[in-house]
Amino acid sequence: MALIVQKYGGTSVGTPERIKNVARRVAKFKAQGHDVVVVVSAMSGETNRLIALAKEVQANPDPRELDVVISTGEQVTIGLLAMALKDAGIEAKSYTGAQVKVLTDSFFTKARIQSIDDVPMRADLAAGRVVIVAGFQGVDAEGNITTLGRGGSDTSGVALAAALKADECQIYTDVDGVYTTDPRVVPEAKKLKTITFEEMLEMASLGSKVLQIRSVEFAGKYNVKLRVLSSFQEEGEGTLITFEEDPNMEKPVVSGIAFNRDEARVNVTGVPDKPGIAYQILGPVADANIDVDMIIQNVGQDGTTDFSFTVPKNDLARTIKVLEGVQAHIGAKRIDGDDKICKVSIVGVGMRSHVGVASTMFRTLAEEGINIQMISTSEIKISVIVDEKYLELAVRVLHKAFGLDQA
Ligand code: ADP
Ligand code: ASP
Ligand code: MG
Repeated sequence: MALIVQKYGGTSVGTPERIKNVARRVAKFKAQGHDVVVVVSAMSGETNRLIALAKEVQANPDPRELDVVISTGEQVTIGLLAMALKDAGIEAKSYTGAQVKVLTDSFFTKARIQSIDDVPMRADLAAGRVVIVAGFQGVDAEGNITTLGRGGSDTSGVALAAALKADECQIYTDVDGVYTTDPRVVPEAKKLKTITFEEMLEMASLGSKVLQIRSVEFAGKYNVKLRVLSSFQEEGEGTLITFEEDPNMEKPVVSGIAFNRDEARVNVTGVPDKPGIAYQILGPVADANIDVDMIIQNVGQDGTTDFSFTVPKNDLARTIKVLEGVQAHIGAKRIDGDDKICKVSIVGVGMRSHVGVASTMFRTLAEEGINIQMISTSEIKISVIVDEKYLELAVRVLHKAFGLDQA
């Protein structure tokens, strides 16, 4: 008998019929004698609907009140799933984040979990009940409702598994595992039997939305056995996120390709080429709590230089406003932005022991006439910024070039 935490994503609870289907799956595990804690997302599309609704009322929604609004999606699904289980003759009890006490910090819309009270859940499990917890939400020390950032139910699931020392955390979604790239973009993508934490962390941070990055960080930190599976298939082992590389497997150089459509490029042109300029540009951006990703400073000419960096698309307008505020002080000739870009990345621990990976990547893109605007590398990844219109082409040709479409 095991203690299993199962997380079901939005598509998996998208209709009443699908919620009943989840109840059937939970019932199956319960019948095998396992203790089950279920974490659910809002029904698919609901969080987007709630955000749009909030924006209709207030263009820049107040973060505290936005969390009050967008956390409601998950409250609906926990209640519905509890009803479906009870209807099937299974004892179940739903909890909101605040009721469990998923304690977070107070950064509304991107709060971090600090602790989880496992005592009431354990009492329910001991009494034979299925515990159902609302994903994506928590409560801060003052009792305010908080949310964990888009895709945050994954993190709720893993954090609960860590708090309960569960035997496994199963993330049920609309694909049957982690693939070499998003199978919606490259139909030839192959499902991975395992992927290392390191690689999964990179994939998630570089845009693969199959797992929220914080859920992977949590699982790594607290040693949670984490698996991604389909809620629409009866059988299948999904993909296990592993701590160790499998010594029996021949490791490909590149394990996966990630992409991100959510970044924009900011260009600061004609700034004086002198010490401290990067700080003068990026300092105010950081003070405005805007995340900067890639950064390029060109070689100076005639005493001036150009500076570019990427920020989340949502923050582009705000970034430009911040920089225009200090433009005279910096002495920049021009400040502009481009939100028609995307980031494409290749990821693999095998890169450590291979040379020529970057040149293969750049040649492959060049052969398709795709211009690279920015490059950044780390030990196990290479990312490039290209025109957004080339996203699918770039991912497809790289997937092929690194042999990922071969079984
Ligand atoms: P859920 O609502 O269940 O949390 P998400 O939409 O957040 O589901 O995540 C699942 C989706 O992630 C898939 O439908 C797929 O399009 C996308 N995805 C992106 N990259 C990958 C990848 N490498 N492997 C599998 N799915 C991926
Ligand atoms: N419902 C939230 C979202 O759409 C959380 C999640 O699905 O994980 O981002
Ligand atoms: Mg998700």
